[in-house]
Amino acid sequence: MATIAANLQAVRARIARAAQAAGRAPEDIALVAVSKTFAPDYIILAHAAGQRAFGENQVQEAVAKITELARLPFEWHFIGPIQSNKTGAIAAHFPWVHGVDREKIAQRLNAARAEGTAPINVCIQVNVSGEASKSGVRPGEEERLAAAIAQLPRLKLRGLMAIPEPTPDTALQRRRFALLRELKEKLVARGYALDTLSMGMSDDFEAAIAEGATIVRIGTAIFGPRAR
Ligand SMILES: *Cc1c(COP(=O)(O)O)cnc(C)c1O
Repeated sequence: MATIAANLQAVRARIARAAQAAGRAPEDIALVAVSKTFAPDYIILAHAAGQRAFGENQVQEAVAKITELARLPFEWHFIGPIQSNKTGAIAAHFPWVHGVDREKIAQRLNAARAEGTAPINVCIQVNVSGEASKSGVRPGEEERLAAAIAQLPRLKLRGLMAIPEPTPDTALQRRRFALLRELKEKLVARGYALDTLSMGMSDDFEAAIAEGATIVRIGTAIFGPRAR
């Protein structure tokens, strides 16, 4: 666990290098530390090393951690698949939700988000890998969902998110991320004020940054391999 601070520093350095190589400012890329499956002690160590944004993908596990760590000023990101019976808990605990891919889920999150709290920042998940992945709208279907989300006052559409299939082929990584960037640019041209491309994980975040990622979601490279 003592390596978490060193891992974080190494990841931040890699982000900065990738940003510079792409002619981008490193501070334009936010790091969400994916703490799923790791106990609060690990999150506290990352916090001590300056990390504030954390990603979780299971509601029950996340709410337990958020409750236990409520004294610390974290920004929690829900990055997992969203079941409709969990939208209440997600809306109550997360300022960011990355994987919205159905109108019904967006409506339920909107209905559950309390008045007087900030709208939930949401990203539409796009399936950029075709049949290799089941989650996300098909490319081309994102504008319909964006239009629906724009009608929901308790949600703020920030951008697009993708989880491409794992591949060591960096040219293929780049193509998947480029597609998400192009889809976001198309929405911006259609009048949607989007500022977020949530893409890039431990094994492909440099390619994602080269294609314009503004949020990278990184777990293994910070916390080590997961048991599940
Ligand atoms: C687990 C997960 C990550 C982090 O993956 P690593 O390969 O461990 O960096 C990022 N995004 C999502 C949606 C995840 O579920």
